[in-house]
Amino acid sequence: ARRHEVVIVGGGAAGISVAARLRRAGVADVAVVEPSDVHYYQPLWTLVGAGQVPMGTTARSEAAVMPKGVTWIRHRATAVDPEAHTVTLADDSVLRYQQLVLAPGIQLNFDAIPGLAESVGRDGVASNYRPDLAPRTWDFISGAEPGTAVFVTPPGPIKCAGAPQKIAYLAADHWRRHGLLDRMRLIMVLPTAAMFSQPDWGEVLKKIAAGYGIEVRHNTELAEVDGPNRRAVLLDTATGTKEELEFQVLHTAPPQSAPDWIRDSALADPESPYGYLKVDKHTLRHPDWPDVFALGDAANLPTSKTGAAIRKQAPVVTTNVLAARRGTLGEARYDGYTSCPVVTAHNRMLLAEFDYTLTPRPSFPFLDTMRPRYDMYLLKRYGLPQLYWRGMLRGRA
Ligand code: FAD
Repeated sequence: ARRHEVVIVGGGAAGISVAARLRRAGVADVAVVEPSDVHYYQPLWTLVGAGQVPMGTTARSEAAVMPKGVTWIRHRATAVDPEAHTVTLADDSVLRYQQLVLAPGIQLNFDAIPGLAESVGRDGVASNYRPDLAPRTWDFISGAEPGTAVFVTPPGPIKCAGAPQKIAYLAADHWRRHGLLDRMRLIMVLPTAAMFSQPDWGEVLKKIAAGYGIEVRHNTELAEVDGPNRRAVLLDTATGTKEELEFQVLHTAPPQSAPDWIRDSALADPESPYGYLKVDKHTLRHPDWPDVFALGDAANLPTSKTGAAIRKQAPVVTTNVLAARRGTLGEARYDGYTSCPVVTAHNRMLLAEFDYTLTPRPSFPFLDTMRPRYDMYLLKRYGLPQLYWRGMLRGRA
């Protein structure tokens, strides 16, 4: 088996941020296991789906974001043995680690809804959640005929739970500016009784949806899609009633879970029905195996899964990995900070920021970010991507 001091599984937002920080802190031998040769800045996919940004600007080569001095192992991890301190790769080779950081991201389960996997990308069925599909969202929005548009958030924790709402507001704004909104029926399907996990911003979003005339269906799920006939079945989980609709556009975030190999492993949290990784929610360390850490979308943390959350998790993992290397318990604690930049129109955004206690945690306390703002839109479109590529991925911000 090849040996490395620290092995990181996943070279996405979380894996690269931690790799860069560990190298900066002087760890000599860091290896990142990452099969893909492209790295995406996924938050901009919302604007790709709204026709504002070309997909290409959200991608860089993985080689370009891999921090200097890090060993890139271009394989898929298939198993972890935390007793033996080993990671098995798809070619059956084995890596031995001193400390392990798990950041393999989330799994998209399009096949969990009958008809969805077959129809997504055609027949008006869209999803901003995959780079090959997000550009199709814009084709369907810009080419829509008068009719019904449905915007679905699936049940369970997903990455950026605000994203399936953002595209509804962007589509509504586009149709309003092109004189089509009055002839559209817009339906937002939410699995929960609430509009948003944080109640203050939930109230704000309720008004924004109402302003566009969007019908919000709470406690409702997408049960079935028939792409060729443009029909969808919604299920009201409170009453068990089903409703069949004909649609022009159906945008959905797919149901999500931890990757199957994590879900089926000893490292999954038995309390998570979706198989997310078990870690202490403050130290981000596994309670049974002190050399194992997890962060990002794959970790079972009771907060919203976002890149902004990872920006606060990465320094905590780094500090606590360094402590583990010295044989001590790290002191750094993550407080659940997350942020959701909710784009509400083609030039407006509000910024929801809160922590485990759902207390607002404004980065710009002198600005009212509960109100849709143009300066916040500029932050999303231009500022945050720079912060990501130049700051976060280099272990500087
Ligand atoms: P990822 O960045 O997805 O990286 C996981 C990596 O692991 C990938 O590179 C993958 O190839 C690799 N991998 C997978 N399986 C294996 C394996 N078996 N072995 C090795 N490597 C593996 N966040 C925000 O903060 N603000 C936003 O506005 C926002 N909007 C979003 C809009 C959309 C449409 C989407 C899809 C996401 C959005 N996000 C947003 C969420 C943000 O992109 C994610 O939370 C973040 O990318 C998660 O980082 P991660 O490293 O956990 O996973």
